[in-house]
Amino acid sequence: MHILIVEDEVKIAEYLAKGLNESGYSTAIAENGVRALSCLQQQSFDLVLLDVMLPDLDGWQVLHTLRTFSQIPVLMLTARDHVLDRVKGLELGADDYLTKPFSYIELLARIKSLLRRVPRLEQEAYQVSDLVLNRLKHEVYRNVQKIDLSQKEFALLQLLMEHQGQVMTRSQIASMVWNINFNTDTNVVDVAIRRLRSKIDDHYTPKLIHTVRGMGYKLDECP
Ligand code: CA
Repeated sequence: MHILIVEDEVKIAEYLAKGLNESGYSTAIAENGVRALSCLQQQSFDLVLLDVMLPDLDGWQVLHTLRTFSQIPVLMLTARDHVLDRVKGLELGADDYLTKPFSYIELLARIKSLLRRVPRLEQEAYQVSDLVLNRLKHEVYRNVQKIDLSQKEFALLQLLMEHQGQVMTRSQIASMVWNINFNTDTNVVDVAIRRLRSKIDDHYTPKLIHTVRGMGYKLDECP
């Protein structure tokens, strides 16, 4: 697995490269956005670590251009945890985020998870019954009617559609949609599922989101 690190701060870039090499990944470093784009056009990579704060083209501009020619998984490294940054990143096609400062352990976990998802990330749209989710256009339709979802509702629906027919536990959903690991209060998940159902299921048949008692939720044409 070959990872491109796009980071202008040499020490951080080298620290990341060293860690990733020790974890069994090969790496290349691009110290600015122009270099990053030319590397990505000339060589084959499996994942990009993309810092938002770069000197010439910033990370958003790099991502925007990258998405015109590649669907490679992109993990954005953002300086602060700002909701607007996340929304902007998702609209531009980022796959995940880490807010600086982050632990190397967490970075590695996110990278592994993204690389596992690679075959699915290639998929542009998901369809179950008459429910369609277009990941690239960030659009959802049920029975050809466009449905507006919040950021988290969209992420939640995408997760369920990617795992059609599989039970997703509340803690899996919490960690994959909210990036939090909590065992105490999974009410957040239940509330979000309720809101999602009211938009994509309540007025339609068949019902697609099913509660699996004592376990979690799954999305499928039949319970
Ligand atoms: Ca930087």
